[in-house]
Amino acid sequence: MKNPSDMTDLDLIIIGGGPAGLTAGLYAARADMKVLLLDSKGTGGEILNTDLIEDYPGFESVTGADLAQKMADHAIKFGLKIETHKPVKGVRSEGDRKIVTLEDGTELSAYAVIVTVGGEPTKLGIVGEEEYHGRGVSYCAVCDGAFFKGADLAVIGGGDSAFQEGLFLTRFAKKLYVVHRRNEFRAQAILQDRLLGMEKVEPITPAEVKEIGGNGDVKWIDIDRDGKTERVKVEGVFVFIGFKPVGRYLFKEHIEHDKNGYLITDQYMRTSIPGVYAAGDTRAQLAKQITTAVGDATTAVLHAERYIEELKDLERAFPSEPRDVVAQTASKAELQVYAPGDIVLKEGEAADRFYMIIKGEAEATQRGPDGSQVVINRFGPGDYFGEVGLLNDAPRLATVRAKTSLEVMALDRDTFARLMKSSQATEDEVRRVAAGRTRAASPS
Ligand code: NAP
Repeated sequence: MKNPSDMTDLDLIIIGGGPAGLTAGLYAARADMKVLLLDSKGTGGEILNTDLIEDYPGFESVTGADLAQKMADHAIKFGLKIETHKPVKGVRSEGDRKIVTLEDGTELSAYAVIVTVGGEPTKLGIVGEEEYHGRGVSYCAVCDGAFFKGADLAVIGGGDSAFQEGLFLTRFAKKLYVVHRRNEFRAQAILQDRLLGMEKVEPITPAEVKEIGGNGDVKWIDIDRDGKTERVKVEGVFVFIGFKPVGRYLFKEHIEHDKNGYLITDQYMRTSIPGVYAAGDTRAQLAKQITTAVGDATTAVLHAERYIEELKDLERAFPSEPRDVVAQTASKAELQVYAPGDIVLKEGEAADRFYMIIKGEAEATQRGPDGSQVVINRFGPGDYFGEVGLLNDAPRLATVRAKTSLEVMALDRDTFARLMKSSQATEDEVRRVAAGRTRAASPS
């Protein structure tokens, strides 16, 4: 990996060091990007709060801490630079860059940012919860369970987290109540069978926790069941009632999110802000799993790599274009991949896109008088084509084929028009190139 000795000017900043962030970091380092991963704590993220992981393929059973360490070691081995205990205060766009401001005031700049910050546990919002946080109220069994050897405990919630953490707590608890607001649990069946099959475990449903109380440390919870309030004696209350994503709070500018605050992305993990990607638990998606986090992060970083190349190519080709327009253009670009011999655009067809080559080579041919294809131009990385038809609103003058494996960014008519409109120098240059190509394509 390029050593990011100048940390203020990077290709990519990854915010968050859980499985998604570490995966993005591994891929970015292997792709030789100038990349930095920041985490407000140590690396590992949510999985550090998980005792045993049994649904990550290849690891029948691994502790969260072990898997986190393996992921971090793996990424570091390939050159990822990680800065822990560096909380990020905010991210803003400036031209074609993202400026990441740390809590200590340091500003870092990168072409792209991947947000993998996950979230924080949802609170019950009841009397006693805040007061007793750290004195009997916890949101992490793995972190705090061992303090409660031989105690009566309660887990609140009916999802995978409540059950998995509950299983961990059975190592220490004399008695474990599972308090849930409905009779049905949403946790996986295997977890339900394991936990509820234990003698020391007692479900209390449907029940709502109304208050947590004690005398300096937690001694009881009040629950409402069947219209009556009951006091249940416990020394520890472990709350697992869901999760609040925090990614959107990094941005002052609008970033699209759903009604629960999860960042909305497209299939490439692009958010609504050009150059900002999201992966893992902070992203709106079906499953909050390690497997999906690492998959999404892979997609995000591979696309970010293209986005950065597109940005640099566009800036080289159109140096007078305002940088924020370049960033918007690159973020609107559609990535297209062709095999050698594939046709990108065909002579005589209507023009609807402008293309710039990211990787590979292409060749333009025109039908000669005898019907054979005559090569009239060759294109390599950074070259563009397809402008003639769009500028003249005319059919394609030539056919363009991939000579090698080819990756291009394609701009639709509107994005191309905006690019032309935002800089007279760009438009003049593209028109000059188009005029030369038109003359070469139609010798009189
Ligand atoms: P979850 O699946 O959203 O479950 C939250 C639980 O808390 C639900 O049972 C919910 O009740 C209850 N709840 C929500 N708000 C409440 C409130 N105000 N008062 C009382 N109860 C409330 O959250 P999670 O268990 O943290 O899991 C989050 C995601 O991570 C899920 O996608 C899960 O599959 C995944 N995960 C997976 C594993 C694994 O082993 N693969 C482990 C942990 C987490 P209702 O059921 O009535 O809505």
